[in-house]
Amino acid sequence: MARIVKKFGGTSVGDLDRIRNVAKRVAQAVNEGHEVAVVVSAMSGVTNQLVDYCRTAAPMHDAREYDTVVAAGEQITSGLLAITLQDMGIPARSFLGWQIALKTNSVHGAARIEEIEPEALEACFKEGRVAVIAGFQGIADDNRITTLGRGGSDTSAVALAAVVSADRCDIYTDVDGVYTTDPRIVPKARKLNKITYEEMLEMASLGAKVLQTRSVALAMKHGVRTQVLSSFEDLPGTLVVGEEEIVEQEVVSGIAYSRGEAKVTIIGLKDTPGMVSGVFAPLAKHNVNVDMIVQSASDNSQTTDVTFTVPEDDLKKTVKVIEENRDTLDYKDLGYTGDVVKVSVVGLGMRSHAGVASKMFDTLAEKGINIQVISTSEIKVSVVIDAEYTELAVRALHTAYGLDQA
Ligand code: ASP
Ligand code: MG
Repeated sequence: MARIVKKFGGTSVGDLDRIRNVAKRVAQAVNEGHEVAVVVSAMSGVTNQLVDYCRTAAPMHDAREYDTVVAAGEQITSGLLAITLQDMGIPARSFLGWQIALKTNSVHGAARIEEIEPEALEACFKEGRVAVIAGFQGIADDNRITTLGRGGSDTSAVALAAVVSADRCDIYTDVDGVYTTDPRIVPKARKLNKITYEEMLEMASLGAKVLQTRSVALAMKHGVRTQVLSSFEDLPGTLVVGEEEIVEQEVVSGIAYSRGEAKVTIIGLKDTPGMVSGVFAPLAKHNVNVDMIVQSASDNSQTTDVTFTVPEDDLKKTVKVIEENRDTLDYKDLGYTGDVVKVSVVGLGMRSHAGVASKMFDTLAEKGINIQVISTSEIKVSVVIDAEYTELAVRALHTAYGLDQA
C-alpha cells in the first residue's frame, strides 16, 4: 500500500467524459488499496477565460479580486470529480484551498505557500475517503483567496505530497513523460525513465513546459518522488528523483530551448566603476528579469560593450528604461532584437566530464550557426542564436550528444 497524491492538469479534466476517465484511474488506485488524494486544475482554457474577464472588466484591477475570479475554475473541477467518484461508489469530497488550509503569503497572483495543515487530508486517508483538492489556490492571513501563479496546481500537488509524506506525487498531463527534447521538433526524442531534480529544474526553467519550475524546486527540497505521466495512456511516465536513484548518469540528459527571449547590446559604455550597475539597477527597479549577461573586456579606448538577455515581453520596457538613462550612461549605441532563441544542453554528468561545451560549439559551427551569447553553470551550457535556426540547432545537438532514439 502506498500513499499517493495524483494531480490532473487542464486537458485531463477538460470535459465530463475526461473527468470520468480521471475518476476511473483514481478508483483503480483506491481499489488496489492505496491511500489517494487528488489535486485538480481547471478545465483547459477556463483559467485563460477568467483572466481575460478581469482584464476586460478593468485593465488595472485589484489583484485580490483577480484571485477571487481566477481561482473559480478549480472549484468547478474539484466538485465535479468528487461527484463522479461518488457516483462510482468511491467515497470522496472536495476541498478548496482555504478548507484544507493551504496558507500562503499575500502576493496575489503569485503567492508562495507558507504552511499546510495536514489534518483534513490525514482524516480522509483514515476514513478511506478521497480528498479532491482544488489546485492553484490558497488563503492569505487576511482570509483573502490567493493563487500561486499560472501552472500553480503542480506546486499545490507537490506541496501537499510533502506535507502528508506521500510515497509519490503523480502529475498527469497530456504528454506521457519528460523527453530528451521537444518531440514536436525532434521526432527521434526519447522518453526518459528517470531524471534528477536538478536536471528537471534546469529543463523546466530553460523552456521545457512539462512541470511548473517552482514545483520541481519544491519536490527537490522535500525529496518528493514525482512522476510525470499521461492521463490518456496506461504507461509508466518519467520519475523525477534524487541523484542516488540514478544508476548510470548520462553526461547530457536533454536539450531545452526557449523562444521568448530578447537580446540587448549596449555599445561603447564607459569602462568605469558603477556603469554596469547603472544599467541593471533601473531594470531591477522595473522588475525586468535579466538572464544572461556578457561584458567584453575593454580595449584601449576605455569603453566596453555589454550584452544581455531579457524575456521578450519585457524588451520594450527594457529599451525605454535604458534610453531614459542615456545621459548618465553615456553609451555610443544601443542594439536589440527579439529574433533570438536560447538553446541549452543539460546534464548532471557534465560536472565530471570535460568537452561538453566544446562539442556544442563544434556542432553549431558545423551547421553554420552563429553563437551570440554563451552562459554556463555546473550542469548546463546555454547559447543564444538566431531564432530561425532553432530546429536545426536542437536536432543537431540531440544527435551530437547521442540522444537520438535507435
Ligand atoms: N488553472 C491554472 C492555470 O491554468 C493552474 C494550473 O493549471 O496549474 O494556470
Ligand atoms: Mg497546467
